[in-house]
Amino acid sequence: MSDNCIFCKIANKEIPSQFVYEDDTVVAFKDLDPQGPVHVLVIPKKHIASLMDTTAEDKALLAHITCDVIPQLAKELNVAEKGFRTVVNTGEEGGQTVQHLHFHIIGGRSMQWPPG
Ligand code: AMP
Ligand code: ZN
Repeated sequence: MSDNCIFCKIANKEIPSQFVYEDDTVVAFKDLDPQGPVHVLVIPKKHIASLMDTTAEDKALLAHITCDVIPQLAKELNVAEKGFRTVVNTGEEGGQTVQHLHFHIIGGRSMQWPPG
């Protein structure tokens, strides 16, 4: 838990959010400002500021998020078949605005490339 981290507060249920998934180490909830019909954020409960702050200890957690949680949620959210986008913004030029590692799952519409 990091003081004043909004996503730590969501993970700890100190501020309300629309959860779509929870287990011992991970939660997922709906983005407040959805960029598509489906837009959820998957976060580790543990405070990790960004991908640049991960350590060898976090490998199993990151594999769990990418190999287990995201594919399961994609199926539950009905975007697995048509496809979806998974985004991790990192740092200022990467567009990261919340300093707690989060994986966006955005779907339900056609995506453009390159992103803006
Ligand atoms: P990023 O710009 O990659 O750091 O993404 C941060 C995301 O968090 C944005 O899509 C915001 O809409 C979203 N967000 C910020 N505060 C909340 C909140 N309290 N509940 C849900 N989503 C939030
Ligand atoms: Zn945090």
